Amino acid sequence: MNKSPVFSTTLNFQDHYPCPICRIGTISTMPLMEAMSCDFCHEIFTINLESQEIKMPSRQPPLVWRWNGWKWNQAQLEGVELGWGYILAAIAFIIFPTSLIAIGAYYFPPRPDVPLSWIPYIWTILTFLLHLSIIIWIFIEVYQIPIQAYWRAIIQPRN
Ligand SMILES: [Zn+2]
Repeated sequence: MNKSPVFSTTLNFQDHYPCPICRIGTISTMPLMEAMSCDFCHEIFTINLESQEIKMPSRQPPLVWRWNGWKWNQAQLEGVELGWGYILAAIAFIIFPTSLIAIGAYYFPPRPDVPLSWIPYIWTILTFLLHLSIIIWIFIEVYQIPIQAYWRAIIQPRN
């Protein structure tokens, strides 16, 4: 078992690997099973030695990582390509409504002496923040970032 970072290791049932989900724990083979689990977030992965991949089956579609000898490659949704189209759509989803409201507030400003004349500006900022948080929420959902696991680790000491 060569632990030196200079030499690459293949994915096998004997070694330990960094957890691709929480990036804190290590994953190792579970006794009598062709699966690995993380000692920190307790996520379970199935192993494909032939393609050097592990799969997280607890979600649909499963997330797949490939071991390149040193680290895990970026997670892929099995059968789904997250391309530039999705990124552009996400940016448009944030920018478009915000700029519509900002243009409205700019060209039709309320008279400064009326009460609540600040509402259009607050509304613009709220639109931006809300659309941004929707995108962040979708991203967390898609990639299953284990916020609950982090939280559990913070509030209870590791045994
Ligand atoms: Zn983990």
